[in-house]
Amino acid sequence: MLDIKITKTTQPKQKPAPGQKLGFGHIFTDHMFIMNYTEGKGWHDPRIVPFQNLSLSPAAMVFHYGQEMFEGLKAYKNSDGEVFLFRPDMNAKRTNSSNERLCIPQLPEEDFVQAVRTVVDVDRDWVPTDPGTSLYIRPFIIATDEFLGVAPSKTYLFMVILSPSGAYYESGLEPVGIWIEDEYVRAVRGGMGFAKTGGNYAASLIGQVKAHNDGYSQVLWLDGVERKYVEEVGSMNIFFKIAGKVVTPMLNGSILPGITRNSVITLCKEWGYEVEERKVSAEELIQAHADGTLEEVFGTGTAAVISPVGKLRYKDDVMTIQDGRTGELSHRLYDTITGIQLGKLPDTHGWRVKVGE
Ligand SMILES: *Cc1c(COP(=O)(O)O)cnc(C)c1O
Repeated sequence: MLDIKITKTTQPKQKPAPGQKLGFGHIFTDHMFIMNYTEGKGWHDPRIVPFQNLSLSPAAMVFHYGQEMFEGLKAYKNSDGEVFLFRPDMNAKRTNSSNERLCIPQLPEEDFVQAVRTVVDVDRDWVPTDPGTSLYIRPFIIATDEFLGVAPSKTYLFMVILSPSGAYYESGLEPVGIWIEDEYVRAVRGGMGFAKTGGNYAASLIGQVKAHNDGYSQVLWLDGVERKYVEEVGSMNIFFKIAGKVVTPMLNGSILPGITRNSVITLCKEWGYEVEERKVSAEELIQAHADGTLEEVFGTGTAAVISPVGKLRYKDDVMTIQDGRTGELSHRLYDTITGIQLGKLPDTHGWRVKVGE
C-alpha cells in the first residue's frame, strides 16, 4: 500500500456545467498524482497535489530520446453518483509490459491501481454525468535524468492526470472512413508497437495527416515487414465480421494489446461467435468485400469503445461496408460494454471497479 500524501487545492477551478461541450483532452481537474523513482531507492514520495506545471531540466532525457510510456482509461459515474473504473488491473499489467520494453523500472500493479483510484476519488466531483461522457484518466511515466547520453534514465516521474471528456458520439454510433496506409508503417515486429509509448504516435502522425487530407478519419496500418497484413487503426484495434465469423489480427508484437479488444473477444465467444485471431491481409478484405461476405468492420479502444467503419480505402479500391451503416454486432458490443461500464448491466466478469466506499 502506498502512503499517499494529499494536498488539496485552495483555488478550485470552475467545473464544466452540465450540458457543456467537453471535447477530448482539453480540460483538466483540480489535482494530479505524482511519484518519483530514484535508482537505489525505488518508487517514493507518492502524493496528490494541485494540478500544476512541472519544472524539469531542458536536458531531461524524455525530451531527447523519448523514454516514456502512457496509459489511458476512464471513470464513469452512474445516476446514484457511484464512480467506476473498467478493468484497471489490465492497464497496470500493460504498464509493466511497456516499462519492460522501454527499460523503465517496474511499477507494482496494486500501486498503479491505488494511485488511479485515489486521485479519481479526490476529484470525483469532476466525473461528468451527461450521457456518453466520462473522466479520461492519463497515467504516464517520463525519464528525468539531466543527461544527454543515450542510456536508460536513473530517475523517473509517474503521474496521473484527469480530463473530463465529452461523448465520443453526439448522436449514436457514426461509421467512419478508414485509409489503409501502404507507404508508411507505424511499428515493426521487434520494435515497440505492443508498448503504449509516445514514439509510436510520433511515427503515426504523417499517415494520419495524409489520411485527413484525403477526407478519411483514421489510418489502418499494415505490417512493417511485408506491408500486406492489417494491424490496427490509429489508437484502436480492428475487427472484421467475415461470413459470420469474428476476425481480428493476432497479437504479433507490433500490435497494441487493447483491453477493449480483449473484452470484445471474450463477449463474442460467450455469444457463440467463432473468433479467429490470425493474419488478415488487405487482399483478403478486398476479396471478402467483392464476395459480399465482409459484413462488419469496427475499431475498438477506450475512447470510442466501438467505432464502426463505413468505408475502407486501399490503393485504388474504396469499399463501402454495410451501406455505411452500423452493423448489428457493433451495436450489441457497444451497448453491452458501455452498459457494464456504467453499471446498467450486470458485471459477470468482475470488470467493474468501484472508486471510494
Ligand atoms: C491504447 C491503444 C489501443 C486500444 O487499447 P484499449 O486498451 O482498448 O484502449 C489500440 N491501439 C493503440 C496503438 C493504442 O495506443
